[in-house]
Amino acid sequence: AFVVTQLCKDCVDTACVAVCPVDCFYQPKDISAETPNMLYISPEECIDCAVCEPECPWEAIYPEEDVPDVFEDDIALNELSDTERDLFELAEVKDHTPPSADEVAANKAKYGL
Ligand code: SF4
Repeated sequence: AFVVTQLCKDCVDTACVAVCPVDCFYQPKDISAETPNMLYISPEECIDCAVCEPECPWEAIYPEEDVPDVFEDDIALNELSDTERDLFELAEVKDHTPPSADEVAANKAKYGL
């Protein structure tokens, strides 16, 4: 499955949601320490089509096998959308302004990338 990483946190651009052919992006009903404000891919529903990965302007989506070590915990975080489904709802496409290249680089730099 593909994994949304912390690079999405508080960004929540939904370009990925718009292209997913199986609607497997979820968002928390309530933001909490357990369920931070980001998008989540259901690993049970993701069909590994890879369409979303290049759509994310924050470059926050990785195939599970390529998730950087710094985001290893995000694999389990995305799995919450399957195991704790009651806490989530289907993500909705929202209007968004894509970030600048500088903003993307600064967001990645927070994680040493
Ligand atoms: Fe959806 Fe395909 Fe991305 Fe999986 S890889 S989340 S199925 S767009």
